[in-house]
Amino acid sequence: MTEHYDVIVAGGGSAGIGAALGARRAGARTLLIERASCLGGAATLRNVVTYCGLHTQDLRQVVFGVAEEMLAGLRKLGAVTEPRRFTAVTVVFDPESVKRVADELCDSAGVEMLLHSHLLSATRQDERVTAVRVADHSGVHEYTAAAFVDATGEGDLARHAGAEVRYGNEGRVLNGTLGVRFGGIPVDVPVTREAIGAAVRAAKEAGVTDLSGESGLIARMPVSGDVISYLADEGYDARDAADTSRAERSARRQAQEYLKVIRTLPGCADAYIVNTGPELGTRESRHLVGRAQLSEEEVLRPGPVSDAVAIGAWPVEDHPGPGLPAEWKFIGDPGYYGIPLDVLRSRNTPNLFAGGRTVDGDRRAGASVRVMGTAFATGQAAGAAAALTARDGDTDTTTVRAELDRQGARLPD
Ligand SMILES: Cc1cc2nc3c(=O)[nH]c(=O)nc-3n(C[C@H](O)[C@H](O)[C@H](O)COP(=O)(O)OP(=O)(O)OC[C@H]3O[C@@H](n4cnc5c(N)ncnc54)[C@H](O)[C@@H]3O)c2cc1C
Repeated sequence: MTEHYDVIVAGGGSAGIGAALGARRAGARTLLIERASCLGGAATLRNVVTYCGLHTQDLRQVVFGVAEEMLAGLRKLGAVTEPRRFTAVTVVFDPESVKRVADELCDSAGVEMLLHSHLLSATRQDERVTAVRVADHSGVHEYTAAAFVDATGEGDLARHAGAEVRYGNEGRVLNGTLGVRFGGIPVDVPVTREAIGAAVRAAKEAGVTDLSGESGLIARMPVSGDVISYLADEGYDARDAADTSRAERSARRQAQEYLKVIRTLPGCADAYIVNTGPELGTRESRHLVGRAQLSEEEVLRPGPVSDAVAIGAWPVEDHPGPGLPAEWKFIGDPGYYGIPLDVLRSRNTPNLFAGGRTVDGDRRAGASVRVMGTAFATGQAAGAAAALTARDGDTDTTTVRAELDRQGARLPD
């Protein structure tokens, strides 16, 4: 027999965690499907250990709800730093603690969860998604639901369900980067972006070829004191396993060269690689084509947020190509912007919503809305909207905002 749910969420990253909790707390029987062995997405699978988009440039927290529950759980474990400004404001966390807090939040809410389960196809009937098929080591299983959230980051569910999708924007995607974690660097040794940048430039001038980025983020992690770096850039098509495999191998070669560079810095002679990724970090792949598209104008010159179901606060951080520095554009007053429901809702599939980096933004807006702090928020809104759609057949902004308010999302008026 096929198991039936009110809401199925595909992908268990920040957006998927937000969506599953948003749907479950709105009363939906909810299934969360994740292909990996843990929740967290990029936070636990790609060495992306800084939650961005939760705070404005003056350190005001503007995203709450599930994001705040994650932060509260991490604070209890001493596993997250206070917000601090790198180029923009972020908190650094311990990824093992993210796995634990995410499990506890989903378990206590009663979210049903399938790990090690790859969503590989979907059924479409009368313009709606009706079922998904999921592979594990025992075979292929089918699950049906009244409404769905695509939080795969890759737009897999939307694509398989025949919803309108778009790969990147203007014919390009932001480049990817392999997050590399270094140990063996004593905590009293300062490791700065400037020092690493200068050492990388010197190595390139001396003829080392397997190096790309010079100015990516460098941060000390809580708990371990390890150093995380986003330097090993790659350009590839995340939909294509052959191209991604080539890029994975090349990025791991780069990681070894970055290790040699870091060992030349004072106090870093004993540095070693704790881990790479484990996966290459894909910044952008498919977007679900929404009923509306978030624009650069809406991000950089924010209007009233009374129709918003989620808040974004990360500047536009465009990554134009491997080895090229990120291009930044900052948000105008009040330092955050609203994300309307129609940006999360499929244009041609009324019971399908998106959260996280899959949501619909133009090139610049997409380079802001994609970060994990914002993904928690768009995910929670998409999950609540999916639950209300499952219950009532449709939903609207007022009803979703009221539900998010009940769930503690604290959306500004
Ligand atoms: C190098 C790099 C640095 C970054 N730096 C930051 C940063 O400092 N701070 C920040 O907040 N953001 C940062 N980002 C952006 C951020 O990591 C992502 O945009 C964010 O993780 C998006 O969240 P998500 O939940 O949409 O997707 P993801 O975190 O990618 O999660 C998607 C989940 O879906 C699962 N999945 C995918 N396909 C399937 C399938 N078919 N079946 C089942 N499961 C599936 C995946 O395994 C994954 O767990 C960075 C990204 C990169 C690549």
